[in-house]
Order: sequence, then structure tokens, then C-alpha cells
Amino acid sequence: MILQDSLLTKIERLQDTTGFRDLHWEGSFEQYLDILRAQPRVARTAFQRLYDMILSYGGDEYTRERESYVHYRFFDDPFEHGKDAVFGLDKPLMDLVRIFQSAARGYGTERRVLLLHGPVGTAKSTIVRLLKKGLEAYSRTEDGRLYTFYWQFEDGERLDCPMHEEPLHLIPPEFRAAVLNDLNAQLPAAEQIHSEGDLCPACRYTYNRMLEKAGGDWLAILPHVRVKRLLLSEKDRIGIGTFQPKDEKNQDSTELTGDINYRKIAEYGSDSDPRAFNFDGELNIANRGLVEFIEILKLDVAFLYDLLTASQEHKIKPKKFAHTDIDEVIIGHTNEAEYRRLLHNEYMEALRDRTIKIDIPYVTRYGDEIKIYERDFNARRVVGKHIAPHTLEIAALWAVLSRLEDPKRPGLTLLQKLKLYDGRTLPGFTEDSVLELQAETKQEGMVGISPRYIQDKLSNALVGDPNRTCLNPFLLIRELESGLRHHSLITNEEQRKRYTELFAVVRGEYDEIVKNEVQRAITADEAAIKRLSANYIDNIKAYTQKQKVRNPYTGQDESPNERLMRSIEEKIEIPESRKDDFRREIMNYIGALAIDGKTFSWDSNDRLRRALELKLFEDQKDSIKLTSLVSNVMDKETQEKIEIVKNRLIKNMGYCDVCASDVLNYVASIFARGDAAR
Ligand SMILES: [Zn+2]
Ligand SMILES: [Zn+2]
Repeated sequence: MILQDSLLTKIERLQDTTGFRDLHWEGSFEQYLDILRAQPRVARTAFQRLYDMILSYGGDEYTRERESYVHYRFFDDPFEHGKDAVFGLDKPLMDLVRIFQSAARGYGTERRVLLLHGPVGTAKSTIVRLLKKGLEAYSRTEDGRLYTFYWQFEDGERLDCPMHEEPLHLIPPEFRAAVLNDLNAQLPAAEQIHSEGDLCPACRYTYNRMLEKAGGDWLAILPHVRVKRLLLSEKDRIGIGTFQPKDEKNQDSTELTGDINYRKIAEYGSDSDPRAFNFDGELNIANRGLVEFIEILKLDVAFLYDLLTASQEHKIKPKKFAHTDIDEVIIGHTNEAEYRRLLHNEYMEALRDRTIKIDIPYVTRYGDEIKIYERDFNARRVVGKHIAPHTLEIAALWAVLSRLEDPKRPGLTLLQKLKLYDGRTLPGFTEDSVLELQAETKQEGMVGISPRYIQDKLSNALVGDPNRTCLNPFLLIRELESGLRHHSLITNEEQRKRYTELFAVVRGEYDEIVKNEVQRAITADEAAIKRLSANYIDNIKAYTQKQKVRNPYTGQDESPNERLMRSIEEKIEIPESRKDDFRREIMNYIGALAIDGKTFSWDSNDRLRRALELKLFEDQKDSIKLTSLVSNVMDKETQEKIEIVKNRLIKNMGYCDVCASDVLNYVASIFARGDAAR
């Protein structure tokens, strides 16, 4: 018994801390008025609640190309650890949030259908999914709570409002103003409660019958009303609806506004008795929350009226019943092709000035595109197969290149334009150049390769060859390339040709990346580079002070080693005529560090560090005989040296045994082709 008690106590405590009890709160109508008095926000409209929900997660302001942006953290998907995080779309998301804001304030946008529009595979449905998840979570918080009610009859039966409406609807219009005035008396204008709309047909029927029985005494029906917390849930079809048109011939308005329950007609004798009707269309059940229209333009013209009345008037018309008030956000999406197909039909004509279109383009910032693939293909999610470094980057590079329009500016390559967009600097270009480049484009980001294509091919490549334990960029490129041949969305040869040609750009960029990386792995010999650095500094010190250098082996004083100094300086293109300046500059730099009490190290000065790395690489490249990898003839010493480099690639640079060998062989082959001079 003691054990049981303590267990129950534990659960009781758990209930309190998790707010479980609050979530299932129930009370009288009067108690609800007390809640409203303390927390008027519980009676917000659906748009107000949605807007406040997004803001409740905060945002980060930043400036880019001299424009201010806000990144709303809500769109990082705080609900499922970033599973549906949206990247690189801060601008359109800011537009969307601004529309929610003006709708929350009642400026008119709350009477429009919101239409997310963009090419296939952009984040349109992800954004809506996030809004739905967010509403579910928000309705469970103290800040986002909302209420509805049910009828309690004398015989013990109960009737839940099928549209989970706001309890204030119970106050007849003739009293409502007085009640609201009382509630609003102490509130600032922005927080005042507004209550529009009347009871749904089912509640209205019950209400009228009860009022009749009570001889018109409104107060007498209140004991039959039980107010409760409303928890929005897509699965339970409470406050969150989804409508996806089937083929055009097969659509039925009952899916939107509810249907007659034929079994119950016999019981109640009439098809206009609300008890014989299911108010369970998507527009009914989404009341208080949000309804998503997938491929909204495929909706049959016959239902245009339903959709427009719902958005413009906030009313729906269930068969056989009067117009019924709703309070919900209506948001649809459509892809570019569908939109263009329907641009001139009558449906669109009618819809055009009643919708607000928000373009959701593809990502055009390379860094953001990478994040999409890292979200879905990271080591936590991909088990049993290694993804070689730069594989996802290469895919993202190709995808973004395919979406960019060729720059009109002479001498600027597409790849350079991509890098400028990504926030990197190029000599002769400023942030204004980026704005100019963007201004000269027509529909950048609205065409190109979709992230979905990349994701599909990545998945394919990962399961492709079971004998391979590692996926590298070449295997992925092969998969991407072969898929282009039967890509259903590529309709003309010219486009296919362009996408194929972009692989050459991507391969070139990859060569640069891995050459650099292997160079760094080879020169990651700390002792050797320190020795080289000390040697160089000793020599330039003697040189600038016109002294001799003591040879550590012979103990004899010698003139500074000009050949050594030049061989390092030439690596960063210091001409003979500038060598004195450079040497003095380095000595001054060391002196300045000493004054600050800091010691000089080989990597203190960026230019010198690069020069030392390149020099060391040149020296070691020959001693390591990287190119012998290509010929497969290798002595033991070389093999050992290569093994050291390989281990550095594995330990410090994210390679596995397989891709480290691959990349060494690949870079060796580049050098063997005589490209080693770079
Ligand atoms: Zn109702
Ligand atoms: Zn690997």
C-alpha cells in the first residue's frame, strides 16, 4: 500500500510539473470569464495566435548586402531537433511573417488565401508542416492556450462542439458587447478581446432548445456548459486540417464542409437536423487553427465558392445549414508548373486578387544548400556507410550552379558569382555588386535542380553498391549525371546539356579543394615546418641587420642563405624588387609581437604561413613521391611516409581509410599530369 501510494504521489507530482492537469482543465463558463480577465490572450484569433507563436521563439537580426534581415528561430524546427529546419529562405519567411502580422492586426490580409508558390521541391510543404507542428505545441503551452466547450445534458450525455468554437460565442449578440466592454475596460487597445461569429449549427440547435426550456433565461443554460482546454492536433483532426484534391472529376464539397449522416436521418427524421450531420469537413475541423490546401490550384472550380467564402467572409456553408463562422488560417501551395498552366483560366482569374502569393524559391546561397543535405545525411542518420568529405558540398555546388543565371558582367564566371552570393570576397567586387548581379536576373532560384533530386540520388548512391563502405563525390556525380537522362522535369535538351556541362565546373572546383587538402596533410608535419620557419627567420634577421648566420653543423659564420629565402618568398609571389620590404615587414611584425609580450610562431603571420606551407609541400612532395602512387611502384620508406599523410587525413580531416586512399591516389594523378606546379 505504501509502495502504491508513493507511486501515485510520484505521478501526481509529475502531472503538476508537466502541466498535465492544466492541459485537461475543465470548468464553468464563469470560471472561463475569470481566466479571460486574467489572461485575455486566450481569446486571440487564429492569425494572432499563429503570429505570436512564431515570435515566441525569437529571432536573430543580421545585415547582408546592407539590408536588414531577421532569422526566425521558429523555422529551425525546435520541435524535432531541426528535422524540418528551413535554410536560406529568411527573406520569403520574413514576407510570410509580415503577412501573418498584418492579418493578426486585422488589416485585411486575414481575408485572403495565402499561396506559397515555387518550383518543385522547395520548402513550401515543409513550412506548412512546421506551422502545424508549431500550433500543436503552442496550444499546449501556458502562453498559447485556448479553450472550447461541450454541453452537459441532464441524462448524463454530452455533446462536444464539433467545431471546437470559442466559448464567447455562447453570449448572445445583444449581451456580448456589454461583457466585452467589461473585460476590456482595463486592457490596452492591442490586447483587447474581440469576439465575432455565432454558434455553429449543432450548438445553436442545442442552445435554442435549452433556452426554450428555460423560458428564455440565458443564465439558466450556463450550468449545462463546460469549458475545457483545446489541444490542437492534426492526428485527432482538431484545429488542423489538410485538404488534397483528388483527380478533378472526383471532388466532393463534403470533404470541405461536412456531410449528412444518413444513418441518423432515420433517428431524427430530417436531413436538416444538425444531429444528423457530421460537421467534419476540413474547413470545419480546422476551426481555431490552420488548414493546408495541397496543390490548391487543382481544386475543382465548383468549390471555389467554398474556398473564397471561407477566406473572405470567414464563413462556410454546410449543406442544408446557414453560413457558419470559422476562424482559421487558410494556406495553400502550388508548384511553378501548375501555376503557369492555370495562369489564365477562369478559376485563377477569380482567385488572383483574393490570394496573396509568396514565392518560395530554391536556395541560391551555397552555404545554405549544404545545410539541407547535412540535415538529412549526417553521421547520425546515415549508418554503416561513410560519406567522404566534400561529397555533400559538391552536390550542393552543382545544384546551386544550376539555379543561377549566367552573369552578364564580362570576366565573371558562374562559379565566381556563386561565391559572391555565398558572401565570399573577390577583388573588384563589393556587396553592391551582389545586389547588381541579383537585379539583372529574371527568375533566378525559380528554375534548376531541386534539392529533392539531390536527396533521391544521394539515397540511391548510398544503398547502391553494398561492397563499397564509402560514398565519394565521383560516385555521387555519376549517379546525378545518369539520372539526368530520365529526369521527368527536364523538358528540353538545352537545359540537360547545361546541367551536364556544370559537372565539369564542379569537378574543377573539387580538384582545387582536395589538392589543397592533401597539401595541408603533407605539410602538417609540425616539427618540419617549425624548423623551416626558424631557419628562414634566422636568415632574414641576419640579412636585415647585415650580419652573418652561424651554421649549426659546422659552427662557422656564413652569409645569409639567399637561395633558401627566395625559395620561400617566391611561393607567395614576392618579386626580387620587393624582397627587402617583405623581410623588414616580417622583422617588424616579430618586434611588434614582442612588445605586446607575444612570441612569434610559424603560423602567426598569414602570408608567411602560406609561403612556408607551400615550400614545405614542394620539398616533401618529392621526398614522399606521391606520384609513385600512380605507378604503384613504391619503396618501404615512401610507403611509410604516405601512411603518415593518410593518417592525418583520417584523424584531422574527416576521411575514412577508403576515401583517404582514394583522395591520395586522385591527387597524385593530378600531380602526375604535370599540374604540380600550382
Ligand atoms: Zn459549436
Ligand atoms: Zn570514406
